[in-house]
Amino acid sequence: TERSYVMIKPDGVQRGLVGEIISRFERKGFTIKGLKLFSCPAALAEEHYKDLSSKPFYPKLVKYITSGPVVCLALEGPGVVASARKLIGVTNPLQAEPGTIRGDLGIETGRNVIHGSDSPENGEREIALWFKEGELC
Ligand code: ATP
Ligand code: MG
Repeated sequence: TERSYVMIKPDGVQRGLVGEIISRFERKGFTIKGLKLFSCPAALAEEHYKDLSSKPFYPKLVKYITSGPVVCLALEGPGVVASARKLIGVTNPLQAEPGTIRGDLGIETGRNVIHGSDSPENGEREIALWFKEGELC
């Protein structure tokens, strides 16, 4: 079955939104296969977002993701990649629909609370990047 890598970014953790966010995925019906609080080294943030390395905001993005602990989630279920992106909302929280995580809980693209994999291939790539074998159920 399909898996997605979902990550509550440092602003979401700092603002105390972890329970609120995880409960949305639980209520939707996806299975949690991995879950941890983690202080991400810069090299991992750089690897995770390597496709964006030529963007002007890339250094800021790496700083943001390493600015405090993140919550790493491996979610499983049919269509979980697209569905999680739908629950999360579009990149800019000001444009994200009310009812989505970003639409309800954020106001800045540079602090948009949460990440979700954009394809099943990237879901597997990112889960392998952020979790060790023994950390997954
Ligand atoms: P994510 O990959 O984190 O789930 P996304 O797929 O909606 O987000 P991407 O285009 O992959 O969006 O960008 C990755 C992240 O980089 C965004 O979530 C945001 O934190 C940051 N980002 C994207 N565009 C900008 C921008 N113009 N200015 C500042 N930060 C940006
Ligand atoms: Mg993305």
